[in-house]
Amino acid sequence: MKKIDVSILGCTGTVGQRLVEMLSNHPWFNIVSIAASERSSGKTYKDAAVNWYLPEDIPEDLRDMTVVNTDPGEAAAPLVISALPSDIAKETERKFAEAGCVVESKASAYRLEKDVPLIIPEVNPDHIQLVDVQRENRNWDGCIVTDPNCTAMGLIMVLKPIHDRFKLDMVYVSTMQAISGAGLPGVPGLLITDNIIPYIKDEEQKVINETRKVLGKMENKQVKFADFKIAASCNRVPVVEGHTETVFIKTKEPVNVEEVKKVLNEFQGEPVKLGLPTAPKKPIIVRDEIDRPQPRLDRMAGTAPGMSVTVGRIRPGFDENSLLLTLISHNTIRGAAGNAVLNAELLYAKNLL
Ligand code: NAP
Repeated sequence: MKKIDVSILGCTGTVGQRLVEMLSNHPWFNIVSIAASERSSGKTYKDAAVNWYLPEDIPEDLRDMTVVNTDPGEAAAPLVISALPSDIAKETERKFAEAGCVVESKASAYRLEKDVPLIIPEVNPDHIQLVDVQRENRNWDGCIVTDPNCTAMGLIMVLKPIHDRFKLDMVYVSTMQAISGAGLPGVPGLLITDNIIPYIKDEEQKVINETRKVLGKMENKQVKFADFKIAASCNRVPVVEGHTETVFIKTKEPVNVEEVKKVLNEFQGEPVKLGLPTAPKKPIIVRDEIDRPQPRLDRMAGTAPGMSVTVGRIRPGFDENSLLLTLISHNTIRGAAGNAVLNAELLYAKNLL
């Protein structure tokens, strides 16, 4: 199988570091360029990534690679994975798409645009057809494909099989989000230690909109958003990685705990069938212990570590149409770099690279 050249934008950040880690020995992709801001460009990766936060060392073959500017003239490749701040991403990603690159983006800049796919490969791979609409609308040789916010990611994966089987009527989610979700250098230690911050800028609206888009249906070459009611409260807690979410669900059809566990356990989706290398065999892992999931114990769950969402405390609500559960997903792997790599693998498998 011919390897595809990939460029990473935002290579020094929390998501960029995960991308470097996940792509450095990837069977289908070959890192040819790493890019970041002017503060980093011209430096070797080991000197630019001064705040390396992962337990494994910087991959040997990338330590001395030179970081370049986030400009297509320096960093274009057939596949570009972007982990840039959203305000920077808007213009930069457009330039790469215009230059003919397929851009897989972790930023929120394009997620809700009508002709931009917002994809979790297990949930809505069919939304990839928006790429054709986008190319027609924008006259780009390349394209932009996005994936959801790290908090929406785990929630959507768990809601998908429940929605398919019992039809969602209403969802309320309350989150306990890890500090790595805020990027580097992140939330100051003095503000988050011994504390909980009950506000994350724009997060609640992102969770609401993106959940409804990803669970929406393709109709007449556009996404018809799912129509259930959804509300969210997002909190930052002193955990390094792994977002925990407690969820209250009302369904249109009667729901029972054993059947919910069954549909969650059986959920698989297209990535395993397509043999995508980063696909976990079980995207959702159900735990029966009364005190699971927990971030330290469950964030690395899955045959592809960190790619599965763990669900527990599944219990009845106040009537036969309601349900409560708790989930955990790894925010920089499944919630960010891992889903971006899985999306890139999906694009490759669908001959879009
Ligand atoms: P981060 O740690 O702040 O990293 C930002 C990266 O962008 C760094 O490589 C930085 O390079 C580069 N950058 C900053 N300003 C730039 C500029 N003006 N021009 C070019 N490059 C610039 O952020 P992050 O947490 O990795 O997040 C990256 C993106 O993913 C964001 O859009 C975020 O919302 C999204 N996201 C994050 C997570 C998460 O869990 N952290 C999850 C899902 C989505 P320098 O080092 O040179 O400054």
